[in-house]
Amino acid sequence: MNKYTTYDCIVIGGGITGSALAYELVKQKYRVLLLEKDRFNQNATTYSYGGLAYWSGTTDLMSGLFQEGIELYRQLERELEQDLEFRELDLLLTINAQDHPVEILSQYNHFSVTPELLTVESACQLEPLLNPHALSGALKLPHGHVHPLKVNAAYQAAFKRLGGEICYELVTQLLYQEKQIQGVITSSTTYYSPQTIICSGGLSRSLLQRVGISSGIYFNHSDVLKIAPQKDLKLKSIIMPARMKRFDLESRVTQPESEFLWSTNSPETIASVVDIGAVQFLDGSLYLGQVSHIITDPQAVSDARWSEEKIREGISQVLPFLGSLPVTRHQCLVAFTRDPNRPQVGKVTGWEGIFLFCGLTSTILLAPPLARHFATWLANGEDEVMKEL
Ligand SMILES: Cc1cc2nc3c(=O)[nH]c(=O)nc-3n(C[C@H](O)[C@H](O)[C@H](O)COP(=O)(O)OP(=O)(O)OC[C@H]3O[C@@H](n4cnc5c(N)ncnc54)[C@H](O)[C@@H]3O)c2cc1C
Repeated sequence: MNKYTTYDCIVIGGGITGSALAYELVKQKYRVLLLEKDRFNQNATTYSYGGLAYWSGTTDLMSGLFQEGIELYRQLERELEQDLEFRELDLLLTINAQDHPVEILSQYNHFSVTPELLTVESACQLEPLLNPHALSGALKLPHGHVHPLKVNAAYQAAFKRLGGEICYELVTQLLYQEKQIQGVITSSTTYYSPQTIICSGGLSRSLLQRVGISSGIYFNHSDVLKIAPQKDLKLKSIIMPARMKRFDLESRVTQPESEFLWSTNSPETIASVVDIGAVQFLDGSLYLGQVSHIITDPQAVSDARWSEEKIREGISQVLPFLGSLPVTRHQCLVAFTRDPNRPQVGKVTGWEGIFLFCGLTSTILLAPPLARHFATWLANGEDEVMKEL
């Protein structure tokens, strides 16, 4: 059990957001406790592709943060003293045979980097595992890639080296009096702090709800398939669909007229979409995805067999060599907000002692620079980026 029960900051959640933030806070000389419920994570960070979409900014603020993010990653291995498998490689966005390539390209003209439109032939030259008959073209973008679990572990190790503490305990309730959060109650202890920061991903919404704080944090249940390391198979790029259905779905279920859906924790599936993608890590293992289900009960279990069938079906079309390999199925929650350019970051309005650091878009890329801005702002009371957010 932990020696201390009082800290300058308590961070709830040891995924990429909590781990990066805890590290940045300890660098600001705070005494920080990071609370994570699972020693072996089954969270969104664990099942992430690890892509760094630094081309995808649509506002000056986000484009600036994404640029800061990729520059930070270019030196992060040195700073954290660990191999993160950082590399820069192509992202290929596949355009279905029935879609018109020029029309799909036009949907990308609001991003800070314009993709290159490839013919089917050039796409297959870049990525020979692609099935030319499934495509009418592809978009190519410069992208970064890391091993998300290695980044997470490296942040936590650096945090501990600087004196931070990690406890594997479930936070069951926020401790409060009137509108002041004073710490947290876990499965075994009560910890006190003047500053509690929620980095609990898809579970942030229900944790806040328990004390009557309604947040703009939503979540989906994601299903992904994992393939064990393959020696004789090499995917050269990250593959995703040019038409991402997940973004449309997230926009739809967060409109004011859909808000009633989130008023109960229902185990019913409201909608599911399939976005066929694949990524290979340096050890040869692969993730194939992804099915996103909207189910408002965060504890619900989605129909993993259905998801496996859908992913296999889609992958067999786009990347036929991967379609029949043995897989393991995994599920996690992924948080999002109504406006991807407006993550839930900063102090909770109307309350004291509680802060949010959730619902980021392109979280693997954004969490490191934003955690730095957040920690600077908390320590000094000001930061240009935090002011705009
Ligand atoms: C298939 C897939 C592919 C993806 N690909 C990309 C990609 O290429 N690039 C990208 O940027 N993003 C990608 N994402 C999204 C990205 O992975 C997530 O947005 C990100 O990892 C979320 O990090 P987080 O820290 O907010 O949440 P999580 O990683 O979910 O961490 C939250 C942590 O909080 C803990 N927790 C929750 N409640 C409590 C509690 N009460 N007490 C204690 N601990 C608690 C949980 O156990 C968990 O470990 C992908 C996601 C999926 C599913």
